[in-house]
Amino acid sequence: MLLRFVVGYLFCAGLVVSLSAAQAPELASALTTRYAPYANWQSEVDVDALAQLSESRYWRTAEEIALQRGDGDLPLAGLHIALDPGHLGGQWAAAEGRQFRIAEDDFYVREGELVLVVAQLARAKLITLGARVTLLREAAVRVNPKSPVDYLELAAEQVSLPKEPSLSALWAYGRAIQARAVHLSIVKVDLMERARLVNREIQPDALISLHINAAAWPTENESEREASESGSGKFRLVDVNNVHALIFGCLSDDELQAENQLEQLVVKLTNGSGTTERLLGGALATALAEATELPAARYQGNNAILLSSQQPYLFARNLLLLRMAECPTVLLEPYVANSFGAYGRLQSALANRAAGRALAKDDILLQYADAVVAGVRACYGQE
Ligand SMILES: [Zn+2]
Repeated sequence: MLLRFVVGYLFCAGLVVSLSAAQAPELASALTTRYAPYANWQSEVDVDALAQLSESRYWRTAEEIALQRGDGDLPLAGLHIALDPGHLGGQWAAAEGRQFRIAEDDFYVREGELVLVVAQLARAKLITLGARVTLLREAAVRVNPKSPVDYLELAAEQVSLPKEPSLSALWAYGRAIQARAVHLSIVKVDLMERARLVNREIQPDALISLHINAAAWPTENESEREASESGSGKFRLVDVNNVHALIFGCLSDDELQAENQLEQLVVKLTNGSGTTERLLGGALATALAEATELPAARYQGNNAILLSSQQPYLFARNLLLLRMAECPTVLLEPYVANSFGAYGRLQSALANRAAGRALAKDDILLQYADAVVAGVRACYGQE
């Protein structure tokens, strides 16, 4: 099975840079500690075969970019960064489960809109430092050109038929198809389209995906939970507020069994993105930790792994965009939006912007953007 992937990969790879491939023992160690630490990867991946592959990539390392810089150049000259404002916001915010507010007269907290502001702020600052910056979206609109209606047929294939011949089961079936079609359009395929844009059109040196975390609502009451997901109703904020960053890794046995995931793992393993991801992820995590002074998030279970006790903010996790974007990719999750610590700051950030007032000194979106710039500079900057 693996050989087929290897051959396919060699033929379709655009050889931009070709350096010596990673050695089999290094690949084995990377799989054991990062890419599949909880899985029996030896039965799916042949590291000796992978070690025969030559490195192929469209992006450049910090050293390669620095080599091209002249003495008088700006600190980030030559660097091309793509920024991904996660999710969508706007009319899709409720359907994507990324909006809430505590009180009726509060501003809606919509992750997709907040991180777009952060991306625009970070872009302006990165450009003044000499970087080229591309945003994956510029408004609260889908990146995927296809609408939910385009996925009705596929959604119908994926939703099982009603179990009983009642009208209420029929309505539930219809709603399940609708929800699946919406999810395919605005979440799953939207993420795949972002990865395609990055790999085939933008081809940046690195991708940073911007998010703001949220915690499960502290309620056992089902109707309250539903109200929270539809963006209305009464909920209580949580105490926990923290920061973490994610890079690709931590595939399970089931994920290794999926052909497309194994193929994407091979690309990421052999193109050298792992080293730069650790450096950039560490630099961004450190910058966010210093700016926010928040503790590191923790994962329970085996869906993510802390890579080093020296860097408690950086985890490896198998998320679609982290896996599919071939260049070094880091996903940021600073703050818990529905926490006592962050909610008030988000409301103040939204209120000041809506009123056209000057931003607070500790404006949360500015703080986030500044930390992104500091992290990029620490990893790629001319010192
Ligand atoms: Zn998010």
